Amino acid sequence: MLVSRSFFSCVLFLCIAHAAFSQGGTSLGPEPSRAVSQPATPVASGPQITFNSVHVEGPFVAMTFDDGPHATLTPKILDLLAAHKMKATFFVVGENVAEYPDIVKRAAREGHEIASHSWSHPNLGKMGDDGVRREMQKTDDAITAAIGTRPTLMRPPYGSITARQKAWIHETFGYRIIIWDVDPLDWKRPGPNAVTSRILNETKPGSIILAHDIHPPTIEAMPATFDQLETKGFKFVTVSELLAMARPAPPKLRAAATPTIARPPVTAAPITRPAAPALRTPAPSPALPAPSPTPNG
Ligand SMILES: [Zn+2]
Repeated sequence: MLVSRSFFSCVLFLCIAHAAFSQGGTSLGPEPSRAVSQPATPVASGPQITFNSVHVEGPFVAMTFDDGPHATLTPKILDLLAAHKMKATFFVVGENVAEYPDIVKRAAREGHEIASHSWSHPNLGKMGDDGVRREMQKTDDAITAAIGTRPTLMRPPYGSITARQKAWIHETFGYRIIIWDVDPLDWKRPGPNAVTSRILNETKPGSIILAHDIHPPTIEAMPATFDQLETKGFKFVTVSELLAMARPAPPKLRAAATPTIARPPVTAAPITRPAAPALRTPAPSPALPAPSPTPNG
């Protein structure tokens, strides 16, 4: 009994030892490869400079107003934002900041974000570095003079900017470049209803919504727009607040996970394939009648 038991336990030990060793050997293989492949995906995103929208876990969006401040329309928007207890971001034109610093000051005081939209609204993508630097610096100075703090975000007029300029502006001024994912084309003045419905149709969590606080129909569109976005459950934050909420988008993770889940059926498929020839052999007979009705194709 003792002999057989000790023999059995010895065999058992050898089996476990072998299994442990072979698992150790195989686990060394896949783990480093996983460790390599996992960081590879985050590295692809890199340090992000430009944002059209972000992935957030919650119904948060950023409403943005460009080209102001405007003497009468921007205060109207500020009144409406205050009534809704909403925060927005104003991408201001430096020339207008110099003309209406008090409006910018009020916006900042009421919790809105003030960001750069250049000094004179040129097409930066077609300008040299010196001109772009002047546009950025003068606006930065005007905003700082008005509200006491420097902007950290910048939006190029017309969304026009080269990849090299983005990197250079980010390096020089520290700005993140903000574009948008919802554009109601309100500058074409399609009417307040069109502006409202376009924004409502396109806005999703993490959206950055573009509008202009220099066009009267845009201002007219905002009460209904805000009401209906709120009814849908959206919450309004500044762009910097939205960026701070950004999380890695899950679709990529799911896409990466799906193949590993899908693999077992794939490996199971070749096992069934040997049986397939048996199925294929009878297949020609039903397939043969098919060509005959179509003479000569
Ligand atoms: Zn603009």
